Amino acid sequence: MTTAAKSCSDADFRNYDDCSPMVRENYTLARTHQTFDFVTAMEAKFATLDTRLNIWETLELLNDLVDVSDPDMDHPNLYHALQTAEELRKDNQPDWMQLIGLIHDLGKVMYLRGSESEGTGKKKQWAMVGDTFVVGCALPDTLIMPELNALHGDRENPRYASECGIYDEGCGMDAVHCSWGHDEYLYRILSSPKNPHTLPEAALYMVRFHSLYAYHKEAGYEKLMSAKDQRLLPQLKLFNSYDLYSKCDDLHDPAGLKPYYMGLVRKYFTNEYLYV
Ligand code: FE
Ligand code: FE
Repeated sequence: MTTAAKSCSDADFRNYDDCSPMVRENYTLARTHQTFDFVTAMEAKFATLDTRLNIWETLELLNDLVDVSDPDMDHPNLYHALQTAEELRKDNQPDWMQLIGLIHDLGKVMYLRGSESEGTGKKKQWAMVGDTFVVGCALPDTLIMPELNALHGDRENPRYASECGIYDEGCGMDAVHCSWGHDEYLYRILSSPKNPHTLPEAALYMVRFHSLYAYHKEAGYEKLMSAKDQRLLPQLKLFNSYDLYSKCDDLHDPAGLKPYYMGLVRKYFTNEYLYV
């Protein structure tokens, strides 16, 4: 795997200093309401995986959705999926990683059975998009808009107050609960025996933690990390550079790229559909 060399710098993306009130509201609601109990309720609610959707059609469904948390993206999600995948392909990254580039945001399809009041709808997306954080332990002050940590619904619970909270030191990131969102949902979809595939463990790791900037960018949650995390974190960081720096205004033609990417779907997935 080669290292991503991009012309853009960090300063060109994720600038939240004068972000829209909608972006700020999304983070305010997420920080306030994404408590440990809320997260475990969402994990249970979305565990049924009883709707069968064709993978390509699902990507197209995301055309109907614009991420309200993202200051860098005004285009429908399918274009971001293709940009991420095509940048990985251009740099000869492994084909499974290109496929993850294509599908990494597919968990946003939760809006189909989401609810505005729970932040999983088309308008209210505070439990679907935006940076995630670990629940059940202290919120790091490296989170985006750290002043919002004072609003967190779990802030008074002494069990969650320390750096490791309810988790054992070195337990590994596999053991933590993350704030609910499209990363976690797709990770659970891909971890279910209903959706057989041959993707490597790094693929699922990239899916699950790509919005956990406090971890892969700010080096937080170090005490929770296991040997597996030490091994996979560099790959997560590499993936993130493509997720972030591919956001631009050249839009690829979905129909022209479909045959190549459907070939990858057929190579790694037993079926062309997923239970979501
Ligand atoms: Fe994402
Ligand atoms: Fe993305």
